[in-house]
Amino acid sequence: MKITKIDHLGIAVNSIENGKSFWSDVLGLKFEGAETVETQKVTTAFFPVGESEVELLESTSPDGPVAKYIEKKGEGIQHIAFRVENIEEALQELKDKGIKLIDETPRIGAGGAKIAFIHPKATAGVLVELCQRD
Ligand code: ZN
Repeated sequence: MKITKIDHLGIAVNSIENGKSFWSDVLGLKFEGAETVETQKVTTAFFPVGESEVELLESTSPDGPVAKYIEKKGEGIQHIAFRVENIEEALQELKDKGIKLIDETPRIGAGGAKIAFIHPKATAGVLVELCQRD
């Protein structure tokens, strides 16, 4: 697979409204608006940083993956996302290598990106997202 860059860091917060002031007011990053992805029960907010972004994640439901993450580990970095050129190819390569995946096929994430998560059990505890943007 060809990984081209770190696409974004996903950071779980209780509230984007409260959480964004550090990133925008203190660090001066540009808040590019929030988007809810209903299928993931999450609202996301992106702050571009050079060629990558910081993504704040707020759960829309107590049983969503981000709410469960915060319940277990507290607020903080929840995942790292790598940009890939071809996500289907990347997933096939991982399957061929016997890597445990959360998403066997890509789904549509914020901004219309094709995304898929690799299981943290296969990555020494890091939730890794693959992300393809056309
Ligand atoms: Zn992400």
